[in-house]
Amino acid sequence: MVLCCFTSFMPLTLYVATSNPGKLRDFDASAQACRPDTVFLPLPGLQDIPTPTEDAFTFAENARSKALAYSLHAPDRIVLADDSGLEVDALDGAPGVRSARYADDAGFSSDPGLSSDARNNLFLLENLRGLPTTMRAARYRCVLAAARNGRCIAEAEGSVEGIILESPRGKGGFGYDPLFYLPELQRTMAEISLQEKFQISHRGRAVRGLLLQFAD
Ligand code: IMP
Repeated sequence: MVLCCFTSFMPLTLYVATSNPGKLRDFDASAQACRPDTVFLPLPGLQDIPTPTEDAFTFAENARSKALAYSLHAPDRIVLADDSGLEVDALDGAPGVRSARYADDAGFSSDPGLSSDARNNLFLLENLRGLPTTMRAARYRCVLAAARNGRCIAEAEGSVEGIILESPRGKGGFGYDPLFYLPELQRTMAEISLQEKFQISHRGRAVRGLLLQFAD
């Protein structure tokens, strides 16, 4: 499937304000499949920059405020920030903007030796226990914002619909991927390749939408 096809002779360098290797892998896959002349680099010195607060009620506000804040530490560079998460209909859209901290917010401990992804997944399963497949609809959402010198210059959003399984499947991906079942592919997000994930994922769709805005 051809996702987007335009040519540009100027390489596009975007500095990504994330230390999440799963996200960086997704961005790289997007560069290959959509606009191969894009270079995604981790924002230099990210660990030394005070982390902007991420306490807004929407993905868009969080993405925008992160991109703006980080761009002030990287003069003249295009800085990309995202906010993303899982919305489950039966939980009124939770975990939503709190996806990364879902179990911690609720003080759900289970085994403290587990990773936070594993604890979040266990807590999600607990909250959906006993619900039939028809009531386990969910979606991933992602908003990407690009800023330069404290000004937002582009923004894009993507989503993908799925169903939360009753037990994990697959070893790929990160976060809620082993529970996120894609009915059309009959596999979870943790069972598909990075290229497939980019083609259908919330982040892939948002990246594509953003890159189109840089076409000239
Ligand atoms: P963020 O880093 O604040 O955007 O938090 C995103 C959180 O949402 C992650 O820590 C995951 O729990 C979840 N999430 C977002 N995108 C994905 C994905 O593509 N796969 C699995 N989990 C995701």
